[in-house]
Amino acid sequence: MSMTEKDFLTIKHQVSKIIDRLIIDEKPYLQNHNFSQTIDFLEQYRREVKSAGLYTPQISKENGGLGLNLFQLGQLYEIFGQAFYGLYIFNCQAPDAGNMEILLEHGTSDQVEQFLNPLLEGKIRSCFSMTEPDNPGSNPTLMNTTAIKDGNDYIINGHKWFTSSADGASFAIVMAITDPNNSNPYLQASQFIVPTNTPGFQIVRNISVMGDEGDGWMSHAEVKYTNCRVPSSFLLGKEGQGFSIAQERLGPGRIHHCMRWIGISERAFHLMCQYATSRKINANQTLADQQLVQSWISDSKVEINAARLLVLDAAKKIDNQGAKEAKIEISMIKFFVANVLQKVLDRAIQLHGALGMTDDTPLALWYRHERAARIYDGPDEVHKLRVAREILKQYS
Ligand SMILES: Cc1cc2nc3c(=O)[nH]c(=O)nc-3n(C[C@H](O)[C@H](O)[C@H](O)COP(=O)(O)OP(=O)(O)OC[C@H]3O[C@@H](n4cnc5c(N)ncnc54)[C@H](O)[C@@H]3O)c2cc1C
Repeated sequence: MSMTEKDFLTIKHQVSKIIDRLIIDEKPYLQNHNFSQTIDFLEQYRREVKSAGLYTPQISKENGGLGLNLFQLGQLYEIFGQAFYGLYIFNCQAPDAGNMEILLEHGTSDQVEQFLNPLLEGKIRSCFSMTEPDNPGSNPTLMNTTAIKDGNDYIINGHKWFTSSADGASFAIVMAITDPNNSNPYLQASQFIVPTNTPGFQIVRNISVMGDEGDGWMSHAEVKYTNCRVPSSFLLGKEGQGFSIAQERLGPGRIHHCMRWIGISERAFHLMCQYATSRKINANQTLADQQLVQSWISDSKVEINAARLLVLDAAKKIDNQGAKEAKIEISMIKFFVANVLQKVLDRAIQLHGALGMTDDTPLALWYRHERAARIYDGPDEVHKLRVAREILKQYS
């Protein structure tokens, strides 16, 4: 076994021990869930993770992370995913992790100092503002938000929604049209850093999602940008690079989500097996003795294992050949794993009966939050179309 593999196994072991404890400690915070009342508890865990040298593991060693490849990182995300706040305490939660990546890749030295460094340290949070209520997110070239050059500044106007975690964030990365007449729609937009204290930045509301407005990091905001003036030094990358930067952000981001979902599925599966073997349905039998339940157990196990292998295969391809070459694999896992997650959570809730509907287990909270897995970062249908189109190209 090479040193690297040995070191990685040590890291995995350390991470598992922290997550096992978090699963127990976070339980009371998941009932009547409220993010702002959870922050002090989470900060304690963050301090522990930092002093163990495991903070921001997705980042290169030079920038203070662990320098792992995606294949290794995926395995850690599965462990993080088993606790509701697993990713957060390691500072690799969406949307911050994606923003860190693009700032690392495209940020100027001033942007790094002002925005990236405090994000890496976990001192501030951020958000990503692309989707608009009046346009289809599945075709983001249709966008009304504009950024118009005015001297040394840009003036941004637009209406966004589902800007996750905007509540309490220090800055937003905003997609806006800068060159509406470009014949290539993919070159029309740019990305800007907009501090949330910029005059004209307004959170209209935290949108109620599945009965829950949430707060702080656990919320999705409707945001208006009204004559938001930012200096041109807040342009991220070059003008017209908005879509290519967004693509860079989404490729590895989808692997992170998928591995996290496998972690959730494994935890739901574990709860399902525990409950099946302990819930008596008559004097001599438990739920586990029922063939229908056994079928759920088998189906769930094989689906989770298949999902994991597909994700690790995609991660390996990205590591070896880059995200562009792995676009079919990335689209395949995005819809496949999101559906496995939904099926496993649904079976776990059904098996728990009324208990499954309560917040005494994390199943209902996950079920509410993760229904969106089949929609964000591209709905199922869009990814299915992409996979089929790429395959059929080889036949035409
Ligand atoms: C919980 C959550 C968090 C989010 N966080 C963020 C965020 O932080 N920042 C951000 O910018 N956005 C975010 N989004 C927005 C998300 O990216 C969009 O919802 C997504 O891209 C889909 O866009 P839409 O909702 O406008 O659906 P539409 O594009 O209007 O599509 C509606 C439905 O039509 C179907 N459909 C679409 N296109 C096709 C097609 N070609 N063929 C067949 N069927 C099709 C799909 O079933 C789709 O669900 C978030 C969304 C959710 C739910």
